[in-house]
Amino acid sequence: MASVSVSSQLNKAVRQQYMSLPQGGRCQVTYVWIDGTGQGLRNKTRTLDQEPKTIHDIPEWNFDGSSTYQSEGSNSDMYLIPVAMFRDPFVLDPNKLVLCEVLKYNRLPAESNHRARCNKVMEQVKEHCIWFGMEQEYTLYGVDEHPFGWPKNGFPKPQGPYYCAVGADCAYGRDIVESHYKACLYAGVNIYGTNAEVMPSQWEFQVGPCEAVDMGDHLWMARFLLHRVCEDFGVIPTLDPKPMTGNWNGAGCHTNVSTKVMREDGGLKFIEDATEKLGKRHKEHIELYDPNGGKDNVRRLTGSFETSNIHDFSTGVANRAASIRIPRHVGQEGKGYFEDRRPAANCDPYSVTMVLAETLLLDPEDHGKEYGYEEYMFGKE
Ligand code: ADP
Ligand code: MN
Ligand code: MN
Ligand code: MN
Repeated sequence: MASVSVSSQLNKAVRQQYMSLPQGGRCQVTYVWIDGTGQGLRNKTRTLDQEPKTIHDIPEWNFDGSSTYQSEGSNSDMYLIPVAMFRDPFVLDPNKLVLCEVLKYNRLPAESNHRARCNKVMEQVKEHCIWFGMEQEYTLYGVDEHPFGWPKNGFPKPQGPYYCAVGADCAYGRDIVESHYKACLYAGVNIYGTNAEVMPSQWEFQVGPCEAVDMGDHLWMARFLLHRVCEDFGVIPTLDPKPMTGNWNGAGCHTNVSTKVMREDGGLKFIEDATEKLGKRHKEHIELYDPNGGKDNVRRLTGSFETSNIHDFSTGVANRAASIRIPRHVGQEGKGYFEDRRPAANCDPYSVTMVLAETLLLDPEDHGKEYGYEEYMFGKE
């Protein structure tokens, strides 16, 4: 079986002829949403007569939730509520991509809609100006379900030369990484940087700093762009936290965090206070750091391959085997941000940022109030 898809081998010059046609002043808007798995993204497109100038110019829409693991067939209409608008880097200006929240028939948030809950917490802690930056690691697969570029039988040479590598023997699939980066910049996603990772075919991009609920919005749109760019190249990105067993690194989504006081002179004291609070809620955080309550991350957080053990909480300056790392430059300057290394690559950034904001900035007696852990974790509403 070929390792790239059949669709990626269609004649792209023919496509280009159609893409250059004028579109009569009308605008294509592609609605993007998270499906019932909490990990998959779906999208569909409609025409608007005018280019929307703000998110408020984009109407609500709906879709068939029985085909996205989101509802029963008998009551299947779900609402799409536009929340963040981006430029479309595939069909270009004036066309848009719009990230949506999903509501059920009764207009309550769908079980997979963690944004609604995240937003409630962020509203309560607004005055602290909490910023996040997330490091999305991912692994490229061929359509043959084998890591992209790996030998058909056997393995590449062991880890060592691949992290931040250059060269045909070490960097697998850079075209995709560079195309995704440009697509993010064009779209208006706040992409911060990118690098090749420790395992061959594994890469990372970072998004941020973003305030509050914007973090989830920008990371989800960056993920959509990644899936879409990879589709053009005929390969598949996986966010599985441990795609290859054995002596191969897993994939995380390190989450960098700061509040206003941490960024100001003397901020290190507030970073230390934060790590103390985090140590008291390790278990609650782990439950929200992958979509399966910790079951995915347990394969990754082993204490080896630059991770901490899932059962232990630890902190350290420049320590990549700790749960929380304080970057060396932050320790030296006495202000800045800290890095939570525990979230898995397939985490929902709305859940991760929500519980971080809650633990750091809300009274312990208000923890979990917005959602009730039981309901939230197991989707009983
Ligand atoms: P690492 O050294 O862990 O690989 P990266 O360079 O990959 O770090 O990522 C750094 C991340 O930190 C980026 O996502 C960036 O947006 C984020 N970041 C930078 N400054 C802040 C800040 N003050 N608050 C929160 N996040 C920040
Ligand atoms: Mn990084
Ligand atoms: Mn990394
Ligand atoms: Mn990191």
